[in-house]
Parts: sequence; C-alpha cells; structure tokens
Amino acid sequence: TVRTRVAPSPTGDPHVGTAYIALFNLAFARQHGGEFILRIEDTDQTRSTPESEQAILDSLRWLGLEWDEGPDIGGPHGPYRQSERKHMYKDFAMRLVEEGHAFLCFRTSEELDELRELRKADGKHTALKQSDLALPAEEVESRMAQGMPYVVRMCVPEEGICVIDDLLRGPIEMDWGQVDAQILLKSDGMPTYHLANVVDDHLMKITHVIRGEEWINSAPKHKLLYQYFGWDMPQLCHMPLLRNPDKSKLSKRKNPTSILYYQRMGYLPEALLNYLGRMGWSMPDEREKFSRAEMFEHFDLSRVSLGGPVFDQVKLSWLNGMWIREELDTDAFAAEMMKWALNPTYLKQIIPLIQPRVEKFSDVAPLASFFLSGMLNITPASFEHKSLNEEQIKKILQFASWYLDRQSEWNKDTLFQGLKTLADGMGIKIRDFLFPLFVAISGTAQSVSVVDAMQILGPDMSRARVRFALD
Ligand code: ATP
Ligand code: GLU
Repeated sequence: TVRTRVAPSPTGDPHVGTAYIALFNLAFARQHGGEFILRIEDTDQTRSTPESEQAILDSLRWLGLEWDEGPDIGGPHGPYRQSERKHMYKDFAMRLVEEGHAFLCFRTSEELDELRELRKADGKHTALKQSDLALPAEEVESRMAQGMPYVVRMCVPEEGICVIDDLLRGPIEMDWGQVDAQILLKSDGMPTYHLANVVDDHLMKITHVIRGEEWINSAPKHKLLYQYFGWDMPQLCHMPLLRNPDKSKLSKRKNPTSILYYQRMGYLPEALLNYLGRMGWSMPDEREKFSRAEMFEHFDLSRVSLGGPVFDQVKLSWLNGMWIREELDTDAFAAEMMKWALNPTYLKQIIPLIQPRVEKFSDVAPLASFFLSGMLNITPASFEHKSLNEEQIKKILQFASWYLDRQSEWNKDTLFQGLKTLADGMGIKIRDFLFPLFVAISGTAQSVSVVDAMQILGPDMSRARVRFALD
C-alpha cells in the first residue's frame, strides 16, 4: 500500500507551506487507497515547543487534512513524535559505526573552522570528509579518555556523481565532492534530521516522500543511508516552493505565512484548501473552484508544474468570495460566522475589555469592531500626535514590528514588558511609545488596552496590522 507522510518541525507558527505539502501527500495517498501519516520532527529540542505542535495539529485539522496515524491518535508504527523515539536512533547510528559506514568525530569547533579554511586555501570544495576529520588513533583514545564530546558522522564518497530519481524532475545529478561527512548523532545523543528522517521513513513503511524542494540537497545523504542500512528507498518527489507575488520564496516579511492568520482573517478552510490545491496543480478542465473530494478524484501527481506557484492573497480572497456566495445559504453563513468569531469563547475575551465603556448594547459594535476586522482603515492623519513627529512614529512601529516578529511568548504582560524595554531604550515615554501601536492595532488611540487587544487578536493578526501600518 501507498504510505505518505508530512513531517513538520514544531518550531514556530503552523506554516501554509506545511498545509500545502500535507494536502499533496494526502491527495496522493487517497488516490491510491493508501495511508497518510503525521510525524512530528522535534529533534531540535531548543526550538521545538508543545504549543507549536498543538497549533500545527489544530490547523491541519481545521483545514480538513486528517491523518490515519499520528502523535495524537497513535497507530501501528508509533510513537509518531521523534523525541519519543530517541533510543532507536542511537542503535542505528552505532550499527553504521560498527560496519564502517560512520565514525566517531572528536573534532572541536575551532578545529573544524581551521579545516574549512585549509580546504578553501587549497581551492578545493569546502565539504569535509572523513579523511579530513580523522585523528591519529592515540589522539582519539586520549580525547575519549578525557571524556571529550563527540558526534557520529556518516562516511561519504570523496568524489563522483550521485544520481537522485525525482518523480517530477527525473534523474538529478549531484556532486559528492560538495557533500559533508554529515553528522548523524549530536554530542547530546540526539539524532540529526537526516538520520531520524531516514530511520523513521523506513520503520513507518513510507513508500513516497513528497516534500518541499528545499530538501533536494539532502537527498544524496539519504540515498546513501538507505544503501548503508540495506533498505529500499521510498520514491522521492520534491514540490516547488510557494512564492510571494514578486516571485521570491514565500516569507512572512512579505506575506503572512501562518495558517492562524488566514483563520483569524475569516477565510473558509475549504477555500484555503482549494487555493493550496491550485499551487502548482490544476484540474484537468482547469476549473478554479473545486472541493477536496473533487481534487482527490482527479489528482495526478505527475501533472504538478515546477514553475514556482505564487501564493497571492488577492486571488485567495477572490476564490474565498466564490465559496461564500455559492456554497453558503443563510443558515450556513450564520453558522460559519459563529464558528469564526461570534462564539462565546472569543466574545468572552473581548467583553471584559469593553464592558466598562458600554452603556447599552448598541455601543458594543463600534468599540469591538476591530476585533472582528482584517486590516484597518488608517490614514497618515490617524497618526497625528502632539509630541511625536512622523519619523519617530515610523521608527516606533518599525522597532515594535521587529520585536513582535521575534516574540514567541504571546501574553499581555510579556508584551508590555518587552515594549517598555524598547521604549526605555529609545528614550520615549511608554505612553507615547504605545500611541502608534494603538492606532495600528485598533484604528484609534481611544481604545481598550493595546496589549490586551494584541493578546486577543493573537500574534499573526497583530504583526500583520503593525506591518500594514508601516506600508
Ligand atoms: P519564513 O521565511 O516565513 O520564516 P521559513 O522558511 O522560516 O519561513 P520554516 O519554519 O523553516 O519557515 O518552515 C516551516 C515549514 O514550512 C517547513 O516544513 C517548510 O518546508 C515549509 N515551508 C517554508 N517555506 C515554504 C515555502 N515557500 N513553500 C512551501 N513550504 C514552505
Ligand atoms: N522536518 C522536515 C520539515 O520541517 C521534514 C522534511 C521532509 O519531509 O523530509 O520540513
């Protein structure tokens, strides 16, 4: 049976790219009556968080991308979270060491830098091979005796050509000379992506690896690992990356990348999924609006086009409008609005903020409208202030925007402290500093507390509004 998987790392917001890759894996599996697996690749323990994992699961499920096996539902090849499989990887790495396909490397980072410099001076490629990294036997023993940290690296050919077969691109030739003796096991005993990914794809009986083209360069190492272990390699298929309308790689500087942003904006999950299905692929009859079931019925992976698909919010909105007009009757529209924001969970966050200012219910909508909006109607005049000039306002928004982009702990107290530190650093009174943020976030300076508002709106909508105010 065909088995595909999506393997996100829970290190940030749930990315539309993850949903795009998941959709194509699911479509391929369903079309072949196969299975689709969700695996969490959290070997980078400093960057992985349970909140990010939960957000990825919730977002994929919101989009209707359901999996047959995964960390939350289990399955016959679990666990499906790499941090819970840690013990397995070490044994596999040691097996390669015993068989002479991998070696312990005691080199310090200073030594590695020196070796790279030497390589460069030679005018040769800078990839480091086992021959560069080897130490005399007595030096290895002495370092081992001193308890110096080591990593396990795989042996790679010094030179020659590696041919990778890609379902969409056919054979791709790559030069072994450019490939490092890749680390497989880090000094803390955790596997790297390469080892964990290959071991898990094998143990989970994955038949087709459909992933972003950013991983093509890793394929030679993976192919070699499969050979060393004596395992069949899954069929590889590298999908074109999503792009900004200016054709550069989709990036949150230019276009929101978090699925949560599209949810907060009020897109229908069916429409967003439909749009992702049009990234590099089209229906045989070229129709633009289609359901998931229709996509799966007509899906053909070989018809994916390699020209970089552009993720354009204007087109997405147009498609979403079609879904809203054609698929929702009045009852369904009401139900969707309630799911989106007119629900007790969301309203109960807003009410404590506005209740003190309300005399009658008809006061609510004007006060709360910015909680139910996308980008706000603000003009340069909205930013007029008695003591701040235009340049200062821009500077505050720019610094705040950089700060908010980096901020992962999203609650009002942390946000306030961070913004206060920024204001102090710029020598601006916090009251004045927050003024442009009030305008960017709520449209007016006469509003409820801006950090409370940011907490409720969430990181994605808040960041997008500050960025929008800067344009
Ligand atoms: P950004 O530039 O917006 O910060 P990123 O490249 O840092 O994005 P990552 O956190 O590295 O994003 O990636 C998250 C997931 O999204 C990964 O699985 C990655 O493969 C996928 N991804 C990132 N960018 C794209 C893209 N342009 N097209 C398709 N998938 C992408
Ligand atoms: N963990 C990788 C990612 O974040 C998975 C890449 C792959 O599919 O092999 O995209």
